[in-house]
Parts: sequence; structure tokens; C-alpha cells
Amino acid sequence: MVFYPPRSVPPLSIIPDDVAICDFMLSDEHGRYPLHKSPDPFTCGLTGKSYSWLEVKERVDCLSRALASEFNWSPNKGTEWDKVAACFLVNTIDTLTLFWAIHRLGGVATPANAAYSASELTYQLKDSKASALFTCLPLLGTALKAAGQAGIPKNRIYIVDLPSEFVCGAKVPPHFRTLDQLILAGKSSPKVEQLRWSPGQGARTTAFVCYSSGTSGLPKGVMISHRNVIANATQICTFEKTFRPAVQEGHQNTPFSEVALGLLPQSHIYALVYTCHALPYRGDSVIVLPKFELKLFLNAIQRFHISILFLVPPIIITMLRNKDLLKEYDLSSVTSIFTGAAPLGAETSREVQDMFPRWAIRQGYGLTETATVVCATLPTDIWFGSSGNVLPGVEMRIISPDGKEILKYDTPGELLVRSPSVVLGYLRNEKATKETFQDGWIHTGDEAMIRLGPQKTEHVWIVDRIKELIKVKGLQVAPAELESHLLEHSMVADCAVIGVPDEAAGEIPKAFVVKSPSAQPDDAAATEALKKHVEDHKARHKWLKGGVQFVDIIPKSPSGKILRRLLKDQEREARKKA
Ligand code: AMP
Repeated sequence: MVFYPPRSVPPLSIIPDDVAICDFMLSDEHGRYPLHKSPDPFTCGLTGKSYSWLEVKERVDCLSRALASEFNWSPNKGTEWDKVAACFLVNTIDTLTLFWAIHRLGGVATPANAAYSASELTYQLKDSKASALFTCLPLLGTALKAAGQAGIPKNRIYIVDLPSEFVCGAKVPPHFRTLDQLILAGKSSPKVEQLRWSPGQGARTTAFVCYSSGTSGLPKGVMISHRNVIANATQICTFEKTFRPAVQEGHQNTPFSEVALGLLPQSHIYALVYTCHALPYRGDSVIVLPKFELKLFLNAIQRFHISILFLVPPIIITMLRNKDLLKEYDLSSVTSIFTGAAPLGAETSREVQDMFPRWAIRQGYGLTETATVVCATLPTDIWFGSSGNVLPGVEMRIISPDGKEILKYDTPGELLVRSPSVVLGYLRNEKATKETFQDGWIHTGDEAMIRLGPQKTEHVWIVDRIKELIKVKGLQVAPAELESHLLEHSMVADCAVIGVPDEAAGEIPKAFVVKSPSAQPDDAAATEALKKHVEDHKARHKWLKGGVQFVDIIPKSPSGKILRRLLKDQEREARKKA
């Protein structure tokens, strides 16, 4: 049985398949809210600096001219895989200018998480075969180490400018060029010819490579096409027309033209597609913050009259733990919050609602592999705990572990999704691609059920995760990555990593370890050594905050697969008893 959007949701228009994202976003030809009427798309939440849409368009043009000269890239020559640039950045108002300039040349942008260590970034640079790296001053040390290991020369590393208060007045070392310098140089560089795409080319051409471990194994490059992003931006805008038609009609600065919080990492699919494409496309403006710090965040809401907060559950938990501080700020501009990337329970939603009775508390669900949102709650049909209704153009099915179609409501099974936003597959990984994407349907690895909501529409409830993935503060942690890293330590004979519940982070990684004969007999000292081994090489959200437990054997299936479910059940029982 296939589940579709509710009848009240308008149908999806035809998604163009011969247009690059930059042309979709930067011209008035593809149904966007007119450029010259739209408020500035990205405003710095620290300084208030922004560029108008026309300035952004000019900057994209100049930057693409500079990059064409610098790299010898040409829009209609070679494939996108000859033109891969990595972007290792905190959030900036220039990130999308950079992405769109790379796209303008027919290239691929591979955004990396700003929390990455040098070895994690090296992995992505090598795997994506990036030949240039854009970074920012606070991340330059890590970027240099990784670029060195991946064979990217220093003269292919560029610095994206940040507000001087954020970098405490630090200056860019003289031998590096900044984005602003490239843009200036681009003004006198030769013009770049337009992309000439045939029908279907936008659907085949990769625009972004984001990293996700999918249902199992190590992080893999997810190939996201131009059409995938255009499709999801259009799906989101069409879905939300049900409750905010005015902005599409051109009523700028009505309550329907949102000022949105752009705090979530622009390197992650949720912010990348929703806040950085869908919102600006329909004429909203985004207040960009480079990091989460509660007072900074509250101050930005008050100063910029932000109306919609894009959040992840751990930020909501932090807000609830600081209710007194929240009362010191004027948050009256906020009309709704939107949460995703990890589950927000009904209880927590209720607590937020008690504190802010006027806010619509919305939840969405999606994956890097569905680039991004496939269902979300409408403000007119909220049901706490639910991930909302199906978006237009999306079809869903639920199947049982033996592959049978589930036909009844309230019956959990694996969620399968079909949508024009479902990505092209995993980069150079046919096996994982075949396992996950079958006949246009993606096997999400999430357990879900369909339930009839208070308004008698079908709601998607995400019940559990079948796949290996751990989500810490909404960020991915691949157990296989931590396991292979732990196995490099001489004290480890065998190991398994699972996620254990944590109120603040959602989940945190915990390791089960079989000691090698040479290991420290003292468990406390061995635990410290293993934790340090992870902390020295991995981003903070991957640290073993759930602890290390020494065991005699790791439970495995006859084929050698770790029985994680068993470990999770054991952990649950142990926690109940504790
Ligand atoms: P990512 O590719 O990093 O966006 O991670 C996607 C995964 O995050 C999904 O497969 C889910 O396991 C989880 N996820 C995203 N949104 C939700 C949600 N609203 N509720 C529960 N899990 C979610």
C-alpha cells in the first residue's frame, strides 16, 4: 500500500531536469519569488552584514570567473568529477555563493562537517577526490593537515572571510587568498559561458557529495543531483503553500515572509536544502550563526525578529533547561519551530508548548539520501511525536522484516520512500547503492508506522532505527567507523559500538570491548586509554561518552555480523535495573 500527501496539499509542479541549482536560485525564470523583491537571503547573525540577491548573483558570477581561471575549469568541458571542491567551513553568509559558483562551472561541492578532525577530513577529501579546499581561519590548522595528507597543495586552499569578532581579530596569513579577493579578481577575469544542459542532465549531474553511513558500514559519499535539490526545495514550498500562500503571491513582509534561524550546520543536508535553498527560493531571509551558544542564539532571535527556528532536539532540550534565561529575551517574534534530524518526543513537545503556547511545534523527517525532508507536520495539523504528513511528490510504503507490504495503520515496519529528491546513490560504491536503492525506492533503515491523526490525515511516526547509525545531537556517528578505529588499538581484540539514550544528546556512543592479551588489566585505566584514542582522532560528537564496557565476547551471527540488537536489549535491561 502506498501512502501519499493529504488532499489539502497542492500537487507538485513539474521539476525541471535541465537546470543547475545556481540558475534555479538566481534567475526569475523558475518560479522563484522575484530576486529584486526578495529580502537579502543570508544575514550574519553576529554583525548584521548581508548581501542583496542581486549582489549575491554578481558575486557568484565573479567567483565562478575567478575559479575558472584559477582551476582551468570550464562549464561545458569534462564531467563534474573533474571539478570537485571541498568546503570545510563554519556557517557563513558566503557559503551558498561558493556552492553556486562551483555549480556554475558544472562542478561538485562536497561540504564537510566543521567539527571534523584532520583524519576525518582527509577521508572525505580522498574519497571525493577533491582538488581544492575552501576553509575558514578557525579551521585552517585542521584543513592544512588534511590537505597535506590528501595531496591538495597549499595554493589550492582558500579562506572564506568571517566577521573579525568571530576570529578575535586574527588575520589571514599572507600566502592564502580569501573568497573576497577571488571575487575581486573575478571582476577582471574572462566571462564564463552558460551551462548548456540537455534534457535530463540536471537529474544525472551531481551537485553535492555529502557523507552518510546509510544503513551500515563507513561514511559514504552521497551523490545529490541538481534536480534532487530543486525537487526538495519545490516540495517544501508546495507543501507549505497550504498554510502560507501569501508569499507566493508576492505579499512580501507579511507574516508569511519568514525570518528564519540559520544555525544548523550548512554542511548537513537538513540546513543545506531547507534553510539554504527552499527558504531563500520563496523569499524568506535566513539569519546565519556560525556556532550554537545559547545567549548568542537568543540575542539573534530578539535582534532580527526571527519568526521560525530550525532546530534539532538537543537544542530544544538546552532551551528547556534554561527557562529562566529564555524569559530575559523578547522571543515574541517567533511563531513556529521546526525540528528534525532526530526524534523529538511528545513529552518534550508538550513542555515547549506549555512554555510558548503560541508557537507551532513542527517536526520533519528525512535523510541525506532523500535530500532531505519527505514528511513534516503542518501547523494546522500538529500531533506531538509525529513526523507529520507526506510531502507532495513523495510516496511511502512500510514493509515487514520478511519484505511483506504492511497494509494496516499503527503497524510498524521498515519505511520505504520514493521521491524525485531520492539521490543518485553512493559514490563509487555499487554494492551499498544496490542494497539501499531498489526500483526507485530507498530503504531508509528506519522503523515507522502510519497512523490516522486528529484531523483524520495520515501521519508518519518514526518508531525506531533498524540501521546501525547512531545520531548524536542530530549528527551521524557510524559504529563501523569507531569499531575500526578501536581495533587499531593494541588493547582491543574485538569490539562493537552502539548508541545508548542520553537526555541531552539523544544518543551517545558506547563501546563493548574484548581486551587483547596485552591489554591493561585495570579496567578504569584501559577505559581512559581507549576514550583518549577516540578523542585524539575523532570529532567530539563521536567520543565514547556512553562509556566502555569490557566483555568476554561480542555477540555475532554465523556470518560474523555484530548482533547490535542483542547488545541494545542487554543495555536497556541493565539500565532498567540500575
Ligand atoms: P541524516 O542523513 O544525517 O539526515 O540522518 C538521517 C536519519 O536521521 C534518519 O534515517 C533517521 O534515523 C534520523 N531522523 C531524521 N529525522 C528524524 C525524525 N524526525 N525522527 C526520528 N529520526 C529522525
